[in-house]
Amino acid sequence: MLDKKVVELLNQQVNKEFYSAYLYLDFSNYYYDQGLDGFGNWYKIQAQEERDHALLFIQYLQNNGERVELEAIDKPGVALTSAKAVLAEGLKHEQYVTSLIHTIYDAAYSVKDFRTMQFLDWFVKEQGEEETNAEGLVKKFELFGDDPKSLYMLDSELGARVYSAPSLVL
Ligand code: MG
Repeated sequence: MLDKKVVELLNQQVNKEFYSAYLYLDFSNYYYDQGLDGFGNWYKIQAQEERDHALLFIQYLQNNGERVELEAIDKPGVALTSAKAVLAEGLKHEQYVTSLIHTIYDAAYSVKDFRTMQFLDWFVKEQGEEETNAEGLVKKFELFGDDPKSLYMLDSELGARVYSAPSLVL
């Protein structure tokens, strides 16, 4: 049996991951609307990954005999002001998600819940990669975003991203 506080945080994370998917779908729609289909594709796949994360948290709770409580998902709450600003918001959101994962890890650590810590290890690593990717996009846009030809190439590069299922199997 898992600790009550840990279960509560894991349940909350299900909602946060679905919210992330919803937020990134909003980003994706924004880019498609702006004619930046490659950025739209990149964030649509990002949204799929976040949905996968939510399902992994659900699976973990169920594997441990815990009940899953689905709450309402908030409306995406980020103002989409420019192609560049949205990328910065993406980075900020990933940093926030990292802090959430660390909070759950901290709760598991404090009750010596090694099983949950091991489950979360994948997410700690994943968040490191997500932050690196988001930072990379911000930097690339700063370098190339103002030049139409370069932006076209960057958009094409992001358009080539394909979805792949998470490497974590429970
Ligand atoms: Mg996630």
